[in-house]
Amino acid sequence: MLAKPLYEPRLIPADKPFQGTIDDVLIRIDGIDPNRYEKTRNYLDGAVTWLSPYITHGVINTTTVAARLLEKHNPEACYQLLYELAWREYFHRTWQKFGDDIFDDIYHPQAGVESTHIPQPFIDAETGILVLDDGIKTVKDTGFMHNHLRMWIAGTLCNVAHTHWKQPARWLYYHLLDGDLASNTLSWQWIAGTFSHKQYIANQNNLNTYSRSKQHDTWLDRDYESLAKIATPVELQQRCEDLHLSQNTLGSDVPNRVNGKIALRSLWNLNPNWAPSRPVDETVLFIEQSQIDEWPMAQHRWDFIEHWVKQLGIEVWRGSVEELNQLANQGVQFVHEEYPACAHWPGDVTERTFYYDLPEKNFRSFSQFWKQVK
Ligand SMILES: Cc1cc2nc3c(=O)[nH]c(=O)nc-3n(C[C@H](O)[C@H](O)[C@H](O)COP(=O)(O)OP(=O)(O)OC[C@H]3O[C@@H](n4cnc5c(N)ncnc54)[C@H](O)[C@@H]3O)c2cc1C
Repeated sequence: MLAKPLYEPRLIPADKPFQGTIDDVLIRIDGIDPNRYEKTRNYLDGAVTWLSPYITHGVINTTTVAARLLEKHNPEACYQLLYELAWREYFHRTWQKFGDDIFDDIYHPQAGVESTHIPQPFIDAETGILVLDDGIKTVKDTGFMHNHLRMWIAGTLCNVAHTHWKQPARWLYYHLLDGDLASNTLSWQWIAGTFSHKQYIANQNNLNTYSRSKQHDTWLDRDYESLAKIATPVELQQRCEDLHLSQNTLGSDVPNRVNGKIALRSLWNLNPNWAPSRPVDETVLFIEQSQIDEWPMAQHRWDFIEHWVKQLGIEVWRGSVEELNQLANQGVQFVHEEYPACAHWPGDVTERTFYYDLPEKNFRSFSQFWKQVK
């Protein structure tokens, strides 16, 4: 008889294409069982919502998700989901407050860094930890990764392989379908201890519990005290200097001459129901080349974006903000929605929708934020 495998991969089910129409997204929200979510969300096979690619790209916003949930369920049942949505808003409010400073160690330097380069076994999905390797293969194929897997990967990379968080964060962002500059960057920093009070580490037992794996005798199979002190395991010592993140993209050059009032959508504002606050002659999606060069994205992400842009039926311009400035100098009036990555775009800015109001008092940690908004 064949022995049972130590870990049975839990690839994301085939019914998660992340495309369809806005009505399909709303149906998905209506199908959420918030009680099951709360009880199972930490398990890799738990009832998570899979909403993040839509939320990241603004196809749907957190207010719509929360309001729709509360139409069907009472607030107590929704508590955990509303709490998780608050994490997302906390990261975005932090980005609004700190601007580009979130892309460097934000509160403290990262302790114990031995290298700024990611260990090669993570790139190749050959760490020897079955759950991590399966998770890395899955994110490369599909763009999706469960929250707990992200925490384990970031925790082992930063705090066991002693890697500075920045290059690994760029690598994960590239593969994710929901790669979000604030949530990704600040989650890595939270785990690396540069945006929190302590570094996060999970050991093999923790992975086994939430992934139902039975693997042992790995470099992660230690108690927490010894794991916090070990040097980078030999299995992880080969580093990858260059990530080689190639990408295709969308769009045509910014035209030299146009007239009138133009609403600019960004990659983060693909909501079919968004309308600028004043009448415009045309709406276009603007992709800032320097930004996607700095934060490249895998093909499945571009396929996702292209699908939602097609539904909007708008033109796509790709180029530089200088080109937009030249059009503005010729009299074109731009308007776009507030988003920190677009803060330097010309034109009027309309407010973004948040579910939680901006806290009145300063907040440094999530708990200070949550205390004020809940
Ligand atoms: C290292 C690391 C990197 C991450 N990178 C990203 C990223 O690039 N983009 C991204 O959207 N999220 C990121 N997250 C947060 C979280 O992992 C994802 O939002 C979540 O896994 C998305 O799956 P879901 O939609 O099924 O989430 P659910 O658990 O169903 O939650 C519903 C929604 O709440 C929000 N949410 C839930 N958990 C978190 C969280 N911990 N932080 C912020 N928002 C949360 C998301 O918008 C999510 O879609 C990261 C977390 C870690 C630890």
